[in-house]
Amino acid sequence: MESRPQKGVIVKIQRFSIQDGPGIRTTVFFKGCFLRCLWCSNPETQEPRIEMEYSKEKCIPQCYECVGRCGAEAISKDGEYIAIDRKKCSGCGRCVKVCYRKALTVVGEGMDVAEVLNEIEKDRPFYEKSGGGVTLSGGEPLYQHRFAVQVLKQCKERGISTALDTTGYVEWDILKNALEYTDMVLYDIKHLDPEEHKKLTGVSNDIILENARRISEKSFPILILRIPVLPGINDDPKNLEKLAQFARSLPNLPAIHLLPYHRLGVFKYARLGREYILKNMQPPTRDYIHRVAELLEKFGIKPLVVT
Ligand code: SF4
Ligand code: SF4
Repeated sequence: MESRPQKGVIVKIQRFSIQDGPGIRTTVFFKGCFLRCLWCSNPETQEPRIEMEYSKEKCIPQCYECVGRCGAEAISKDGEYIAIDRKKCSGCGRCVKVCYRKALTVVGEGMDVAEVLNEIEKDRPFYEKSGGGVTLSGGEPLYQHRFAVQVLKQCKERGISTALDTTGYVEWDILKNALEYTDMVLYDIKHLDPEEHKKLTGVSNDIILENARRISEKSFPILILRIPVLPGINDDPKNLEKLAQFARSLPNLPAIHLLPYHRLGVFKYARLGREYILKNMQPPTRDYIHRVAELLEKFGIKPLVVT
């Protein structure tokens, strides 16, 4: 009997992306992550399971059309609107079909490797003209490492350049296997202090720093360290100096990209029924970011600001 193709849970496949590596890229957002960064702009990618987004601003008062449609009794009336019990919701999507206002949407879709590759192939002419390719992102693509490796491998077999946007919080053998089919690693470093890292992301940074060192020992793939600049959280001179020391201590000095904090994903938290903790944090100004970059230069590394 033929076995069914393995499926991955994909949040979206974004075409014509220009921020996830060189050239024009197709970014595949995987669902599931080991970290819970307080500033995450893609919170819908954190939970591995398929889940619901509810946009109250689109919902019609007293419509209640979806309430009786949920076999799991996950939807109930809540004043003029509805409430979702997310523990009961399986993400089956029945309620979505009856909501013509599109106030309910399913986040995550089971796709097999061939389906993902079909989407990727649509942009092949743009990769060739721009020096772009495919980026696996998330979430953490290696949360679904077997599926991610299959996608990377097939891209390489078809001559498509690959990038892996990773937290680095994964067993080395898994990461090493993925690197076999990866041309560029976009590697997040969020804080150098293990305790602070744990407070901000839920996990320590020891595996992350160790894996960065191991990638850097190889001459390929290209390693880019990406630093989110979180005003007042990880941009104090002490942390920046430690960051510069760490980068300079690596066997091959990687490129350093600074990613200014932004609030583009804040609205998603309410849709997922979650609270955004960093309510009062504001994005850094252009001058502020350049001061951070200057400080890093003083400590011996020259970063690129990515906006
Ligand atoms: S069907 Fe849509 S518009 Fe109607 S109550 Fe449910 S979410 Fe709101
Ligand atoms: S997705 Fe399915 S289980 Fe979840 S609320 Fe809608 S109908 Fe209920």
